[in-house]
Amino acid sequence: MANISKRLSTNVEGDFFVDSTCIDCDTCRQLAPATFMEESDYSVVFNQPESAQEEFAAYQALIACPVGSIGTVKKNSQVFAEAQASFPLHLEDNVYYVGFNSEKSFGAHSYFIQHPEGNWLVDSPRYLKHLIQAFEKKGGIRYIFLSHEDDVADAGRYAKTFGATRIIHQADAVAIPDAEWIVGGEEAIHPEPKFTLIPVPGHTAGSMALLYNHCFLFSGDHLWWDRDLERLETPHMLVWDDTHLKQSITKLLDHSFEWVLPGHGERIHIHRHHMKKAIEELAQRRWGS
Ligand code: SF4
Repeated sequence: MANISKRLSTNVEGDFFVDSTCIDCDTCRQLAPATFMEESDYSVVFNQPESAQEEFAAYQALIACPVGSIGTVKKNSQVFAEAQASFPLHLEDNVYYVGFNSEKSFGAHSYFIQHPEGNWLVDSPRYLKHLIQAFEKKGGIRYIFLSHEDDVADAGRYAKTFGATRIIHQADAVAIPDAEWIVGGEEAIHPEPKFTLIPVPGHTAGSMALLYNHCFLFSGDHLWWDRDLERLETPHMLVWDDTHLKQSITKLLDHSFEWVLPGHGERIHIHRHHMKKAIEELAQRRWGS
């Protein structure tokens, strides 16, 4: 829980606040942009919620925060409970943003796909009773797709609870050597008709993306939307190999999709034609090709 004695002085006065334990992961700014903004490598409250909708979103941010840095002077238990119940948060079709980001994965987002042939968890949230019950209601978890070695978090505990198969690339398998399915090579794999595993080495040697239903690309730390610059981005720092990264970005042009759902950074939904253009523009900007 957030500690009021560590409240950042840059918060505006009022009920919601961020304390100095914030790791600047951006989650709150995505969930409640009317309340939180970035300042000096922290998130801060720049506007107290002014409507019921804004208060609800601020509580969602409080719940999703991986390190419990968001607090309230006085808790509205009813709105808190409603905000908690909203996770996993429905995005589109049968795809959900899970919430409850984990500090173990540096606050990365995780996602859930409800699928008739078995549900998929994409990267791992915190291991919590609320989520276990929510996943049970949706039919459990068959596969846990791990985009790369940094975002494993509590995947092992979820796998044990649900008898799920954890999928990770061989080059990143040191993070989870007992994974049930270790993928090799750089060719795309189709484990189910609507699912494509795409090795995208670059950020790490074993980074992978998951394409679902020719529409949703779960991209880990390989690709995300920059909401300030309104364009796709790929890592500039923490790059294992830049040549591989370039190849892995251009490799995505072989696929068609409308959504990018990253571990870090903003998710985006645009027309697939614009998505292709945005990837081409990224490659041109970054590598001149
Ligand atoms: S979600 Fe928490 S850790 Fe992440 S930026 Fe907001 S306050 Fe900081």
